[in-house]
Amino acid sequence: MTRVAIVEGDGIGHEVIPVARKVLELLHPEYEYFPVEVGYHRWEMTGCPCADRDIADLKSADAILFGAVTTPPMKDYQSVVLRIRKALDLFANLRPVKGTGFDIMIVRENTEGLYSGSEEISDDRATTLRVVTREGTERIVRSAIRLAKQRRGKLTIGHKANVLKSDVLFRDICLAESKAAGISYNDKFIDALALDVLQHPASYDVIVTTNIFGDILSDTTSYLVGGLGLIPSANIGDCYALFEPVHGSAPDIAGRNIANPIAALRSAGMLLAYCGDSIGLDRIESAIQEVLATGIKTRDLGGSTGTREFGDAVLHMLHRK
Ligand code: NAD
Repeated sequence: MTRVAIVEGDGIGHEVIPVARKVLELLHPEYEYFPVEVGYHRWEMTGCPCADRDIADLKSADAILFGAVTTPPMKDYQSVVLRIRKALDLFANLRPVKGTGFDIMIVRENTEGLYSGSEEISDDRATTLRVVTREGTERIVRSAIRLAKQRRGKLTIGHKANVLKSDVLFRDICLAESKAAGISYNDKFIDALALDVLQHPASYDVIVTTNIFGDILSDTTSYLVGGLGLIPSANIGDCYALFEPVHGSAPDIAGRNIANPIAALRSAGMLLAYCGDSIGLDRIESAIQEVLATGIKTRDLGGSTGTREFGDAVLHMLHRK
């Protein structure tokens, strides 16, 4: 039986994930769904944001649906998301950004770079080590090449090799692998790339880049489609997979039933495709499009529909089919 771990996390995670869970339960009542509680609230209650037992529970699932967790900017607080990505070795973070006339897949390296966790801080100096390895780069660019081959066959490599030695290694490995794979490819400095994606989104297919660049690029690119409430993501490793909206816990709007649940719904769709039900992914997307076409929208898209009510409209649309 397929087992799905449900992590609501913090903030709007408690609002958007229940919406996505209901859709999963409708399409796959035969799956087993079980909650795992991690995050900042859990830390406030118990002093521990994520225990070894929670990691074991997450590893016991076939797939994980994750909301978002708050990471307070405190010296001694370890990011729960980073811990999970590392513990489950979820090295490929796939962030699709689709709109009228463009369809981009951002492939972000998820375990190295500036988020490798090697940091030191004193009162007067702080350092964060930016780690790029041959092994880490080869596996992420090979994932990106595989995806490009299933799509329109074009790969763009985003880097800052003009300044960072670590990105010379990243760029050179990506270029060599792309050439060997026989796909169409180019490379761009990440700052110029960020602007060009906004100006000419239709010229991009798959973009591969390092950890923090991919994080920033996907948030920026969300501007093309109406914001962070719309973009899902998959975190994939060799053994585990976790699906989450690109957005965070959004404390500024949490608890008000105004968050857009589309990113969470699409993440649930990606989870279904990973579990072998690509039709489920398409059904969720069609239901979202049909609901939007009737003018039902959350506040970020210029509407006034609540999070729960938008979810109910999607469920209703799915029931009708
Ligand atoms: P955020 O993504 O939570 O919010 C940025 C802005 O986008 C806010 O104005 C918010 O209201 C809006 N927004 C986000 N999701 C939305 C939605 N579904 N519908 C409508 N509007 C939405 O980023 P932030 O404010 O920089 O971070 C808040 C917290 O989330 C921080 O503690 C951060 O560390 C955490 N975070 C967690 C993850 C994760 O768990 N994967 C990812 C990013 C940020």
